[in-house]
Amino acid sequence: DDAAMQALEGDEEDGGDDDDDLTDQSEAWLDALAAMQAEEIEFNLKDADRADRARRMQEMGLSSEAIANTLDVAVDTALEEADAGMQTFEAEAYLDDIDYTTVESHTQVEKDPDTDEPLRQQMVYVDEHTCIGCTNCAMIAQSTFFMDDEHGRARVFQQWGDDDETIQVAIETCPVDCIHYVPYDELKRLEIDRRGQNINAKARLVSQGEYGGSSTAGGGPRAFTAPQQISGNARARCTNCPSRGCKDCPMFGVGKNPEFERREKERIEKQERRRFEQMREDQSKSVEL
Ligand code: SF4
Repeated sequence: DDAAMQALEGDEEDGGDDDDDLTDQSEAWLDALAAMQAEEIEFNLKDADRADRARRMQEMGLSSEAIANTLDVAVDTALEEADAGMQTFEAEAYLDDIDYTTVESHTQVEKDPDTDEPLRQQMVYVDEHTCIGCTNCAMIAQSTFFMDDEHGRARVFQQWGDDDETIQVAIETCPVDCIHYVPYDELKRLEIDRRGQNINAKARLVSQGEYGGSSTAGGGPRAFTAPQQISGNARARCTNCPSRGCKDCPMFGVGKNPEFERREKERIEKQERRRFEQMREDQSKSVEL
């Protein structure tokens, strides 16, 4: 009986150790679980932060590839693809809908929604009185120039419809140098003035003044219109050289050429420095007195 009693007590003692072990294990499991939950929460927060940053970068117009490389995440490209598809569709629809006989490119220029200012100041304009209708520009930059049926001269129907380089080639290879860079305001004035123009197409052939006579185009006599005043004709033709920093650069508009702005800033800073030094000199003189 004594032996049985001791065994029972021994069992009870062992059972007590087992209970302690179980408690320790449970606590360890609970700690591990809490740590896992904390890690998961941290991961989710980081993930949400990355997703938020990716969304903002997408809104800023960065490509999916650039975002994925920067944040090291996969980016949903569905929105971007849909947007690109819509832009292509809109561009194609615009080209389909265009009425080449009446289109005025300044009405299609993309503007900043906040300021209503054109996103780009430099525009392209054909001096139609000088154009000889060789079709060169319309062949090279087909999404920008077309040949106007009425006068057989080239005309811009869409500003920057082609990339800059293609347009530059079209301009540089025009045999009579009659394609000009003009600022937006001038483009608007020229296109409005151009309405109803009547170019004397034969004047060149018979060596006579280009205007002053009349034609019967449009059903009755119409006076020929005078050549337009285009800033590019008023001086040496602009050769797309913004680095010269002309104040009235037709690429950027009056006073907006970056090189001109840089020089202006330098000039004003120098002026301020001189004024400040002069003030200090005057002050020290008055102290000496
Ligand atoms: S290249 Fe010059 S001359 Fe020839 S169509 Fe164009 S604007 Fe006219």
